[in-house]
Amino acid sequence: MWRLVRPDAARALEDEAVRRGLPRYVDVARDRRKAKFLIAKSLPADFQSDDSTGDLWRLHRSLLREYQEFEAEVAAGEAEPEEASPNFLDLKAELAKRIMAECHFCMRRCGVDRLRGERGYCRVGDEFEVSSWFHHLGEEPELVPSGTVFTLGCTIRCIHCQNWSISQWYESGTSMTPFEMAKIVEGLRRGGCRNLNMVGGEPTPYCWLWIETMRLVDVNIPTVWNSNSYYSPETAELLAGFIDVYLLDFKYGNNRCAEEISDAPGYWEACTRNHLMAERYGELLIRVLVLPEHNECCTRPILEWIAKNLRPWTRVNVMFQYRPEWRAYQRRELSRRLRREEMEEALRIAREVGIRNLVWD
Ligand code: SF4
Repeated sequence: MWRLVRPDAARALEDEAVRRGLPRYVDVARDRRKAKFLIAKSLPADFQSDDSTGDLWRLHRSLLREYQEFEAEVAAGEAEPEEASPNFLDLKAELAKRIMAECHFCMRRCGVDRLRGERGYCRVGDEFEVSSWFHHLGEEPELVPSGTVFTLGCTIRCIHCQNWSISQWYESGTSMTPFEMAKIVEGLRRGGCRNLNMVGGEPTPYCWLWIETMRLVDVNIPTVWNSNSYYSPETAELLAGFIDVYLLDFKYGNNRCAEEISDAPGYWEACTRNHLMAERYGELLIRVLVLPEHNECCTRPILEWIAKNLRPWTRVNVMFQYRPEWRAYQRRELSRRLRREEMEEALRIAREVGIRNLVWD
């Protein structure tokens, strides 16, 4: 059925641009290679639950280096993943649980103890709060059909948010445990989805719950981290060796726009750092939503940075679907859709700075 609705998606895994941008993902989606979370389960991690947090991070850093070698050996057919106990994914879960007790998954670093019922800026607690899950046919062609799970809450507050009822808790969700979520993930894969797409709102507050979920998942499914890029260095480390594809928004080309429109101080530094980490430990698909009158202050510096700092065949989706939603009317320039000349200008900038792998080219 989805092949009729999205014939471009049906052909996407053979597409040369997709294969150059996301070679590993294509193989995992086709079940020819193992997803990172399964490989992480096969890497032994010698730790106790009463070890200090500092010791656990030291072990994590050393195992991350080992993980990289192990993944290469598995890819070369020189090693066969077999579940170990405790393993690298267990270690990630333990570290993520400790972050829950003084939350710093995102750059706000609220410091609240979410295991004891406290809630920070995002208002997420210690269980999944799920809006919906389904086979998403509206994503980039290589992702479709995408097993998408929308969770409630977000770490920033874009006044034009198109998912505002989810990100700002205007709807009530379904509470779920990692065990229940694991069954959903397995069902999505068995039902034909190419990947697990963790989105919201924002997946960052749910980092611990997602790791706990994947400890329980047995099917081979590539993980897609669909994020606003405003997560902490600690979260970025936990995602390394866990996430296959980083589907990252690159929202602003300067901190002033990020603060005024999304209440995201220090966005540029967090976003660029997380893109570099994503490229180092996984594969990247970047979304750049063009905003009215923001080509010079945002689109240009974003695309220039990508062209200068990331691999030449990085997939970039320059998006034109902006529409004024939620509180967008608070800013004059965000109260309308894009003009044709603004779209043409964004594409001209992309070509001028040397972006090679545009999703809709
Ligand atoms: S994830 Fe939520 S509670 Fe944790 S630091 Fe970010 S906004 Fe605060």
